[in-house]
Amino acid sequence: MSEQAENQTLNNDSHNHEHELEASAIVISETHEVFNQPPHLEDFNTFEQDQPLVDALHHAGGDWGVEAVTRIGDLLGRAEWIERGFQANENKPEFHSHDRYGHRIDRVDFHPAYHDLMALAIEHNIHAAPWNTPQKGAHAVRLAMNYLYNQNEAGSACPLTMTFACVPAIQKTPSVAKQWLPKILSREYDPSFQPIDKKRGATIGMAMTEKQGGTDVRANTSYAYPMGDKEGAGAEYEIVGHKWFCSAPMCDAFLTLAQTESGLSCFLLPRWRPDGSRNEFYIQRLKDKMGNRSNASSEVEFRGAFAWMLGDEGRGVPTIIEMVALTRYDCMIGSTSLMRQAVAQVTHHIAHREVMGKRLIEQPLMQNVAADLCLEVEGALAMTMRLATALDTPEDEQEQNLVRLTTAVGKYWICKRATHHIGESQECLGGIGYVEESIMSRLYREAPVNSIWEGSGNVQCLDVLRAVGKAPEVLDTFIAELEKASSRQAEYDASLAALKSQLSDFENFQFRARSIVEHMARQMQACQLILMGNELIYNAFCRARLGEQRGLSFGNLPADIDCRAIIERARPKLD
Ligand SMILES: Cc1cc2nc3c(=O)[nH]c(=O)nc-3n(C[C@H](O)[C@H](O)[C@H](O)COP(=O)(O)OP(=O)(O)OC[C@H]3O[C@@H](n4cnc5c(N)ncnc54)[C@H](O)[C@@H]3O)c2cc1C
Repeated sequence: MSEQAENQTLNNDSHNHEHELEASAIVISETHEVFNQPPHLEDFNTFEQDQPLVDALHHAGGDWGVEAVTRIGDLLGRAEWIERGFQANENKPEFHSHDRYGHRIDRVDFHPAYHDLMALAIEHNIHAAPWNTPQKGAHAVRLAMNYLYNQNEAGSACPLTMTFACVPAIQKTPSVAKQWLPKILSREYDPSFQPIDKKRGATIGMAMTEKQGGTDVRANTSYAYPMGDKEGAGAEYEIVGHKWFCSAPMCDAFLTLAQTESGLSCFLLPRWRPDGSRNEFYIQRLKDKMGNRSNASSEVEFRGAFAWMLGDEGRGVPTIIEMVALTRYDCMIGSTSLMRQAVAQVTHHIAHREVMGKRLIEQPLMQNVAADLCLEVEGALAMTMRLATALDTPEDEQEQNLVRLTTAVGKYWICKRATHHIGESQECLGGIGYVEESIMSRLYREAPVNSIWEGSGNVQCLDVLRAVGKAPEVLDTFIAELEKASSRQAEYDASLAALKSQLSDFENFQFRARSIVEHMARQMQACQLILMGNELIYNAFCRARLGEQRGLSFGNLPADIDCRAIIERARPKLD
């Protein structure tokens, strides 16, 4: 056989083989028809299809922001933006300590989807809205946008939150604020690694935790030395030490704590020194985390790193707490948002999935579980939205008292509930709730982090006790807020009376702290739902969370509650 003929035969053989493969593929695909699976939950407006959020924003005076929230809700519901959330998590950030020639570079590379998401958020002012446009409802509008954003991708919400939260702490030192705030408040995302004066926008991180103590920051050993004669707020220092957790290490600067002769002080530590050289900020490695994967969290060392002091010397904790109060508030938004995403998935799934000849949404036991999951989001959102309105009036002492206590109570309860809530939600989807192609797995891995960072559960409870012990008026304000909703719902009134008696008994106060704080949280959530005025929701919530029929797991609602109406209110509709 000639070479040409041989090649022809080989080609024919391979052609025939391809045909055979194609034929067998058709046969395989014909083994069954795919049915009884829900349509993809995508290409819908995540704001418009979230009635509890629409109501909460309206109640909080955020009607003027509806157009902007609708716009981002439209984008975030699109398949391509949902996909970016997956891509940013499937392709974890990578740390490069050196370049190919051995120069130290300390660079963290992210998937392009991460940068797209950051740019979207910053363009929509999620990192700065209330500072850029302070007005009634500004925090509420920002909450709504952040809430929608977190549902697509929670990891990048970390640097966004820190950038948002740093502003009041930086404002305390005008010389630093003058240079940095215009870049922080900029609506351009600029991930380039260069000195601040060359950048179009900046992101900010926070580095407090050291190996020997995260909660107990007073145990910090990092030490700051003044560089010249000038000391105190705005002065230049060099810091030697380490931080055991420093998330988003590619930020442009970090609020950090270090000891001085007068005690623990707060600093702003940039990645570049004012003379244009790289700062002595070295990333040791990235943490290998169970979740929160799109976000880089690192261990860092400061080897004589340049920093400006923020606030007064020795007053590091009160200065950085201005930031921490807001990151804790954002943890409440973040966890409520994870629960909302779970509820969107659950209500969508059960509306389409049939088991034993009937859609799950029509089956009483599933109705009980799903409605209960929806109620949890209603309560968490109402409480967090109340905080947003209080944050709009920093000059109002009563409102700030409310912020002081409600942040600790809410951070404790909402973040803790999210883990349980999302586990239960996963189960509602059955097996596909456990696979990586479902967002549920990501939500489940993400959920615990809000509970741990920025002060873990016990720390929040102790903070409540500290606030009450130090300034009893904060408790008076909290109770006065709860009383605004009294005389409208029987279980609410009985529970409020029980809470007051619990709060007046100081015996074993610390040991009982969780029980007290949980009661405060449920009561405040119920209060806000009553004040919002949807009787179906507040009645169900009060009976489920404050009444005697309270169960430990989700799905223990009293029998006469209209579960279907609660579910339909939360369910995103594609048509
Ligand atoms: C993903 C991730 C990212 C992080 N990013 C950052 C970051 O960017 N910057 C940063 O500074 N930190 C960051 N952290 C660190 C985080 O804030 C700390 O881990 C957290 O504050 C707890 O500190 P710790 O780990 O030292 O635990 P510890 O302080 O040892 O606490 C352990 C446990 O003891 C409890 N506890 C503490 N005191 C008491 C008490 N008196 N009574 C009863 N119980 C108590 C706590 O509630 C906690 O449950 C991050 C953590 C994680 C997981």
